[in-house]
Amino acid sequence: MAATSVIVSGATGFIAQHVVLQLVTKGYKVVGTVRSTEKGEDLKKKLKSDNFTYEIVKDIGAKGAFDETLKAHPEVTVFLHTASPHHFDITDPETELLFPAVEGTKNALSAIATYGPQITKLVVTSSYVAMAHYDVDTIASNIYNEDSWNDITWEKSKGNALDGYWGSKTFAEKAAWDFVKEKKPNFTLSTVNPGYVFGPQAFASDATGTLNLSAETVSSTLKLKPDDEVSSQALAFVDVRDVADAHLVAFENKDAEGQRLLLYSERYSGQDLLDIINENFSKYVKGRIPTGIPGSGAEKIKTLATIDNSKTRKIIGHDFITLKKSVIDSVQQILDTNGSI
Ligand code: NAP
Repeated sequence: MAATSVIVSGATGFIAQHVVLQLVTKGYKVVGTVRSTEKGEDLKKKLKSDNFTYEIVKDIGAKGAFDETLKAHPEVTVFLHTASPHHFDITDPETELLFPAVEGTKNALSAIATYGPQITKLVVTSSYVAMAHYDVDTIASNIYNEDSWNDITWEKSKGNALDGYWGSKTFAEKAAWDFVKEKKPNFTLSTVNPGYVFGPQAFASDATGTLNLSAETVSSTLKLKPDDEVSSQALAFVDVRDVADAHLVAFENKDAEGQRLLLYSERYSGQDLLDIINENFSKYVKGRIPTGIPGSGAEKIKTLATIDNSKTRKIIGHDFITLKKSVIDSVQQILDTNGSI
């Protein structure tokens, strides 16, 4: 039987590279969409697999962005839509975050509907931010689960980069569910809604310089000076390897059809990152990065909402990687790749 062919949009991203790696390792054929030939060739070289090819999609937000890719690949039966702007370095939230995220998702949906009738599964990478806004995630009495929705408005989303990102994920995911509800297409939809994603790069050679926004959270902790303030950030964590695995579960496991998979392992605070690094890499960081108040992260975490993803855990069927393992693996990879931290 011929191997299943899968499109992965935004294949060069931090999460997507893990998705692609897991797919080709399991014998799937992968068509990645990338922004340039240079990026496609770089990923091809790193993967060393004949099961990976790529197509150029410069801007997912441009009308008909995925049409040519779908026309060229009638063998594809699964579409994993991971591409979306994930950075805060913008001046206009509407044109740089909201439009590309929402139009990118609509473009994937309409390309499948028009040119990919053989596609049976669509998985959209959404986010925990589409489930809870940051200002309500810090209310300890709140509980969020797979049924929760961020109630942000388009107007508020235009206000600043943070709200722009939170809105971009919310409205893009809504567009996908609305499409399925209204058009009743041939494919089933599942979404993967991760918390903040840490963990090693799919390819060690990438563990250098400034990393992707979320992975850089761990890397930038290593760049602190002893007297720097401990970051007050405290969010929901999940490891990138679990997020990638969930993209496969989302189309392989029937129980995931029509579901939102809330990928969450545990809470973390800036103090927790310091504690793990100071405890496990003291030979390299002692006296060079802050210590803060070791163990005090737990107090901060008590002030956050509860996340109940028991439904997702049942579908996924295995424990999620812990924050401790994720941070150790990330820092070890940076050390191994660069010879120092
Ligand atoms: P990333 O490394 O920045 O990857 C994003 C990918 O999308 C890149 O390949 C990027 O291409 C591509 N892309 C962005 N805007 C595009 C556009 N307008 N046209 C074409 N391609 C575009 O980010 P990531 O962290 O892996 O995120 C992947 C997905 O997971 C996103 O949907 C993100 O919202 C979601 N997510 C991430 C986290 C997290 O903590 N990392 C948490 C929850 C959800 P270039 O790099 O070439 O620009």
